[in-house]
Amino acid sequence: LSIADEIRKIAAKRKAVILAHNYQPAEIQELADHAGDSYGLSVIASKVDAEVIVFCGVHFMAESAAILSPEKKVILPEKEAGCPLADMIRPEDVAGLKEKYPGLPVVAYVNTSAGVKAMSDYCCTSSNAVAVLQQLPDDRVIFVPDRNLADWAAKKSGKKVIPWQGFCPVHEDVSLEDVQSVRREHPEAPFIAHPECRPEVVALADHVTSTSGFFSYVASSPATSFIIGTEKGILHRLKKENPGKKFYEPRLEMICPSMKLITLESILSSLEKLDNIVTVPSEVADRARKALERMVSISG
Ligand code: SF4
Repeated sequence: LSIADEIRKIAAKRKAVILAHNYQPAEIQELADHAGDSYGLSVIASKVDAEVIVFCGVHFMAESAAILSPEKKVILPEKEAGCPLADMIRPEDVAGLKEKYPGLPVVAYVNTSAGVKAMSDYCCTSSNAVAVLQQLPDDRVIFVPDRNLADWAAKKSGKKVIPWQGFCPVHEDVSLEDVQSVRREHPEAPFIAHPECRPEVVALADHVTSTSGFFSYVASSPATSFIIGTEKGILHRLKKENPGKKFYEPRLEMICPSMKLITLESILSSLEKLDNIVTVPSEVADRARKALERMVSISG
């Protein structure tokens, strides 16, 4: 048996479903029952008929799945797979912001720990951040942890946003010069940027969208080549779904090392041993779930 077949066999025995984020290595996306963005996968995890969820992504994503599916075992096959952006803010930092700006609502990007979500009023994803801000009755909002997403969502929603100074190193590393350089080489290709990119990079984009939005934009665009301003892993599915189209990266290759820690071997081992299970204490999970549910109720 190939290792992928061995995994499928043991997954069936364990009644396990394998989920892979779009930034995972190609072989893991191929193996997975579902590939997608972090929030979409957590919703699938909560609805799917399974006893075990193998979440191939990073720690906060497995936590979100555990929050939304408290009755299932959620495995993160590599326990060191954290997200540097999520690690840039702690629950006590949110407490400090609330003290400094009393009465203002706190919106937490889903790229945060369960503890930070539990301290927040609303969650948001990169696809609904603008809608969440627009629906809030308040003119001023605290937004954590990504300053670039905060800047973009503030401009699009017209709200005054007090940002936490966190950033995703992978998107932050792309410079204006990187984009200008690849654009000079491929002037016909629209540049699509993730809103975690720096404001000056986002300002150059032909289209700004969430991870999932890249797929719909490329599929429906008449253009035949694109400059992709997000993590390299997304190219696997973009190429597969759009065989006639070409993709270019900013001069700098965008790779998230945390997203590449999980291997077929670690999936097999954690499914065999049923280890690396991610749990969230129930009082934290209950409060974090409320912030996630409020997001769904106001953004539709
Ligand atoms: S790409 Fe950025 S936001 Fe996503 S897991 Fe890596 S560090 Fe975190």
